Amino acid sequence: MASVELKFIVDFMAGRLAKWLRMLGFDTLYFKEDNNARLCQKSLEEDRIILTRKRSLANKGRVYLLKSDLTFEQLKEVVSKFKLKPKPFTRCGLCNTKLTEVNKEDAKGKVPLFVYQNQSSFVHCNRCNKYYWQGTHYDAIDKRIKGLFSNPPHSKNT
Ligand SMILES: [Zn+2]
Repeated sequence: MASVELKFIVDFMAGRLAKWLRMLGFDTLYFKEDNNARLCQKSLEEDRIILTRKRSLANKGRVYLLKSDLTFEQLKEVVSKFKLKPKPFTRCGLCNTKLTEVNKEDAKGKVPLFVYQNQSSFVHCNRCNKYYWQGTHYDAIDKRIKGLFSNPPHSKNT
């Protein structure tokens, strides 16, 4: 892809936002320390936009000040501010690693049997060794992001 993807760094007060951004496919670091200087340095080094509630960071470079305390409202703010297009199931919500598609056969024995029998595609995080599939995970995400994007990523044909 030619277009440059935006990258984010979320400060320690908004960890759930980081997880949601990742689940929607956006490269997001979760910065767990309460250390403004280090946070700013990291954002510069890796060219990441800081997402924070801290007013003291307002003029420290590429910073977006979150208005809401609520995770989902924050997600809405960020999506509309940066005009993000979701790519669910491309990135691990736990560690930010890009997910790789695996053959159905390879997921055998690694996911619950009923999942294996009912799903056709699986993705895998090589770092967490965790499998994801578009069943319950997808529905949960889908519910939350309805109305959040003008163009929903997929529509499920069931
Ligand atoms: Zn992972």
